[in-house]
Order: sequence, then structure tokens, then C-alpha cells
Amino acid sequence: MPKPWIDSVKNARSLTVRNNIGSGNWSSLFSRGLREINRLLSSSSLNITFREAAADASADVIVAVGNGPISYTHDNTTFTSNFDGKRLHGYTGLAGREGSPYIEKAFVFLPTAPEMHTPSGTRRTGIQVMTLILIHEFVHCCGLTDNDHSPDDIFNGNPTTNPGSRPDGDRVGIMGSNGYVWFPPFFLSNSTVGKIQSVW
Ligand SMILES: [Zn+2]
Repeated sequence: MPKPWIDSVKNARSLTVRNNIGSGNWSSLFSRGLREINRLLSSSSLNITFREAAADASADVIVAVGNGPISYTHDNTTFTSNFDGKRLHGYTGLAGREGSPYIEKAFVFLPTAPEMHTPSGTRRTGIQVMTLILIHEFVHCCGLTDNDHSPDDIFNGNPTTNPGSRPDGDRVGIMGSNGYVWFPPFFLSNSTVGKIQSVW
């Protein structure tokens, strides 16, 4: 079930996002991810805007990269996990006060170097798949959990992959009613939009 944010965030209808990606593969994709999620939300008539935050403390969402042990601390509780920096799915922790159903802060981890299986072996994937990974995690940041993954849009939890001849030609997709659908174009289905709407 989707989780609601605290009232101050919900009333602002905005999520402020801190870019802690640093240098490397992801550094040029943060702004692109923000633009894409804002376009998807506004075209779905969801009045929610992602904005870049200037500091960790003031941010609702913190985005970092991870490979191996990851951790974040909120309300004196530290969450730790082991994260595969080669996978094609990020991780988003929706953190709140103990015993409270409300999200106070979200922690996004992106795989440092996500890899694609190709007929000639495994190699790093490119910009289209990485952008998809980032905006998929931004959908989680709206309050959607792994149990809310959808069959029919970019919020699919177990998509199909289609390697290109070059990394930037790689695609992730889903099986639609008329065959495979590859991203981009990115889109949100009615069921995902409805789940987001239910907690905003
Ligand atoms: Zn997911």
C-alpha cells in the first residue's frame, strides 16, 4: 500500500531533492531525471513538483549512489543493507518516526554502474536505462512501495531488457497487450497515477 508523506510536504505538493550523486556515471542525469518526473506528474494531472534542494537537512529526498554496503539514519534509527551496484533497479527507503505511518524523508540509492546482459557478455548500460532507473525511484519517493509495482508502465518491478548495439541503445520494457513496449517514451499508467493520487 502507498504511504503518505507528512502534512507539511503534502500541503506544499512538492518534494525537495538533494543531489548527493557526486561525480561519475550519474552526475549528468540528475537534472534530466527531475525534468522527466515533473513532466510525467504534470501530464498525469498530479499536482506534485520535484525541486532540487540546497542541503541535506532541508531536503525531503536524498539521492546517492551505492555499491556494496549502504546505510541511512533517520529518527535515531539506522537502516543498513547490501546493495548490488550492478543491478538495474535502485533502492528507496521511505523513512518516518517509529510507529508513525507518515514518511518524513526518503533515501534513494542508485546502482553505481548498472549492467546489461548482451549476447556478447555483460557491460555497463547507457543513458536511457539509467534515466528510467532514476525516475522509477522518484515514483517510489511519491510514497509507493515495492508492493505497488505495476505491470503496465515504468513502475514495473521486474521489466524486460533489450540490449542495443551500444549502451545508449539499451532499453528496458514491458509486455503490453500488443507486444513489447520499450522505454523511452516514459509514461505512468492509470493504476500508478491512482496510487500516487491516493496518498496526496
Ligand atoms: Zn521499484
